[in-house]
Amino acid sequence: MIAERSTYLLDLLKIEKLDAILFFGLPNMRYLSGFTGTDGVLLIGAVETQFFTDSRYQEQAQNQVSTDRITCYKNKFKTIVEELQACGYRRVGFEAAAINVAQYEELTNISRDSFEWVSLTAQLQLLRAVKSADELSALKQAASLNQQAFDIVMPLIKPGVTELKIALELEYVLKQLGGEINAFDFIVASGSRGALPHGIASDKRIQEGELVTIDFGTRIDGYYSDETVTLAVGEVDRNLRQIFDIVLEAHDSALAAVCSGKSICGLDAVARDFITANGYGQYFGHGLGHGVGLEVHEFPSVSAYSDKDLMTGMVITIEPGIYIPELGGVRIEDTVVVTGDGYQSITTIPKQFKQLST
Ligand code: ZN
Ligand code: ZN
Repeated sequence: MIAERSTYLLDLLKIEKLDAILFFGLPNMRYLSGFTGTDGVLLIGAVETQFFTDSRYQEQAQNQVSTDRITCYKNKFKTIVEELQACGYRRVGFEAAAINVAQYEELTNISRDSFEWVSLTAQLQLLRAVKSADELSALKQAASLNQQAFDIVMPLIKPGVTELKIALELEYVLKQLGGEINAFDFIVASGSRGALPHGIASDKRIQEGELVTIDFGTRIDGYYSDETVTLAVGEVDRNLRQIFDIVLEAHDSALAAVCSGKSICGLDAVARDFITANGYGQYFGHGLGHGVGLEVHEFPSVSAYSDKDLMTGMVITIEPGIYIPELGGVRIEDTVVVTGDGYQSITTIPKQFKQLST
């Protein structure tokens, strides 16, 4: 167990009167135990911690995981239930967001009435929300790769080049620079495809006079980068330029409003109200942003529906957009860490209007 991270859970055990908590999700498992494989279960008990995995990961777990015990399973749920019974546990919490209904039914069928299962979701949201110095360093390294890759690939963005070519070049360069995996399927959306907020790169060729929205990211030590740039390829019409300026101002005003204690729905409103006041409210359909860490989209969701406040050390994106069917769209995204009196940017690519020569 990573010691300083277990305090939160030991408190949770007391508050919820639990004998133990089972973690099924890889991000929390990695956060708490250091395990980077793809199959395992972490058991945090009041007196003992235990890690379960299959034979493929036995040696890796022995090297990475510092729980009191490591157990290898053939039948995952059967082995876990037997161990819980052997420990004499009765009231057991579990990470509900990381297990599906079929798995839950299998678990409860095997355990019959041995335990009182307590579903944990909201109680675990804050576990990874505040980032440590090491986590921030990994996030900044991942963001630095974004900037380096973008600088290398940007000269290739020209009329006639396909969106897919730009996405592939970014992927290739990011991996050459040491990026572990793509954060997601990169979005390269040009011209009218810019109206698709999640327009994954296609074989469409970029044309002069279009805006191109590029949303991409990589991963370092498990931590993701996430950043969106919108560029003009040659001269764009006045309407597109106006939309760009509105999104940029919404982005900049929201950033200026970030600080510890600020309500998240209030932050979303800063950008949304500005876009609405300019007549484009109906074209900004998604939330303002999201948390970033061991998952590219994690708690907190930065939206009008959040009832949470920002905390120092939270890492969030600010990514307003305007998407107009058949015309095109603009999104501008930065990832930042919340500080006591503002924010520090993690992503570094400049976001002001940039017109590429053709
Ligand atoms: Zn993004
Ligand atoms: Zn994002």
